[in-house]
Amino acid sequence: MSDPALDTLRRIFGHDAFRGRQQEIVTRVVDGGDALVLMPTGGGKSLCYQLPALLRDGCGVVVSPLIALMQDQVDALRQLGVRAAFLNSSLDGAEAAQVERRFAAGELDLLYVAPERLLTPRFLGLLERARIALFAIDEAHCVSQWGHDFRPEYRQLTLLHERWPEVPRIALTATADAPTRREIVERLALQDAQQFVSSFDRPNIRYSAVARDDGRRQLFDFLDGHRGESGIVYCLSRRKVDATAELLAGQGYPALAYHAGLDAVTRAARQRQFLREDGVVMVATIAFGMGIDKPDVRFVAHLDLPKSLEGYYQETGRAGRDGDPAEAWLAYGMGDAVLLRRMIEEGDASDERKRLEHGKLDALIGYVESTGCRRQTLLAYFGEAHAGACGNCDNCLHPPRTWDATEAARKALSCVYRTGQRFGAAHLVDVLRGADTAKVRQFGHESVSTYGIGSDLDARQWRGVFRQLLAAGLLEADLESHGALRLTAEATPLLRGERSLHLRMEAPKAERRRSRGSG
Ligand code: ADP
Ligand code: ZN
Repeated sequence: MSDPALDTLRRIFGHDAFRGRQQEIVTRVVDGGDALVLMPTGGGKSLCYQLPALLRDGCGVVVSPLIALMQDQVDALRQLGVRAAFLNSSLDGAEAAQVERRFAAGELDLLYVAPERLLTPRFLGLLERARIALFAIDEAHCVSQWGHDFRPEYRQLTLLHERWPEVPRIALTATADAPTRREIVERLALQDAQQFVSSFDRPNIRYSAVARDDGRRQLFDFLDGHRGESGIVYCLSRRKVDATAELLAGQGYPALAYHAGLDAVTRAARQRQFLREDGVVMVATIAFGMGIDKPDVRFVAHLDLPKSLEGYYQETGRAGRDGDPAEAWLAYGMGDAVLLRRMIEEGDASDERKRLEHGKLDALIGYVESTGCRRQTLLAYFGEAHAGACGNCDNCLHPPRTWDATEAARKALSCVYRTGQRFGAAHLVDVLRGADTAKVRQFGHESVSTYGIGSDLDARQWRGVFRQLLAAGLLEADLESHGALRLTAEATPLLRGERSLHLRMEAPKAERRRSRGSG
């Protein structure tokens, strides 16, 4: 009955039992082995190094990149009676000296330290004199150059292993796609670390994605099912955040806008309001959310495509932390992907990095256009196998019908070609449907061979065809000329009649309310 780990878990942390793989991880580190821990946010990573630090001789040294999180963790530990402290730039000289003195004297159980501070000769000298229980490297994905949180100092953390090979290291992250994981192992020299990969599934979150046609009405329909609940509505631009917050306020929602264009005082006040009051709808750019730990966020809606599936997973992961049902809803349009591609192209990243970002965007588009189980697609991206048929995503609840779109796709592709690969979807749809518009007349498109050959489908269905052709890579958008569509090499077999194509059927208007999902 006297398992010291379980005993400490109950006595100090006040938890009855370990969660997930915590116990295995704690045992591994207490025994002196290295570990790489991949666990979703809220999974209980902190305990995996805090507990071994208490059980082993000496002080646990925790490398953490976020000053605000260090402060929170240390406050929480002190309340539990654990002797914890942090060293970062928020301390003045005397305070820092005091922490250093306690560390050297063996009076600390846990010391949180920023990576740039850890790497100073002064701190390394201190480490030489102290007894170290373990090194914990939190937010280990910061070592990855491709992630959005890259911290160059993380690259130098291998020196911990070189100088203190006998001290166990535990690296932790909630970002778990395979390339990042490989990079962590390589960059932190964790080849001998045992990997503990927890499931990233959040079974209480219902995922759904809808093609945007009447975005405003679709949002109202969605929110209608969530009156009185707290939630986050993400938009890509500040302007859209402001406009949407105003729109929702006009509909009686307690909606607040949040983006980096607002001053710090306003932002802090709104964040507090969101955390403390019930039923606030935060309309925000992705500037909002880092470190937000509100258990009862019932929905996260995206009105624009996020930049990657990792980003989407993180953002939607803020919903349903309490384990109760929550919804992750996404509305997307063809223009979104075109805009994001342009943002990647116009950024000043290296070509290699741009390729990677395009690849991430492709994966995201694959997710939104998927006709299969969303959970399966999402988890597959994180290297996790899921049998599918989760019963809690839109595609599982209302399997989308597909149709043989070979003929329609061929018409669409040849219309792109006949009009010179210089036009966007809106005009191409006009040509296919034989519309009489000023632009059609201006370019003489009433005389191209594809004029009016598509009157069997309505404009919305045609937009769906173009969007899915773009998503499937048969078309690409020319970024120089405002999203003009061009054929890719992938289009050739279809134009030659060598392959067929099945596409998701756009739900007719009457059915769309159902896709809100209320089962
Ligand atoms: P992460 O760092 O993975 O996001 P935390 O370490 O902050 O997650 O833990 C998330 C929450 O889960 C915290 O409130 C923590 O107290 C709680 N928690 C962690 N482990 C357990 C456990 N074994 N039993 C109950 N609650 C736990
Ligand atoms: Zn599913």
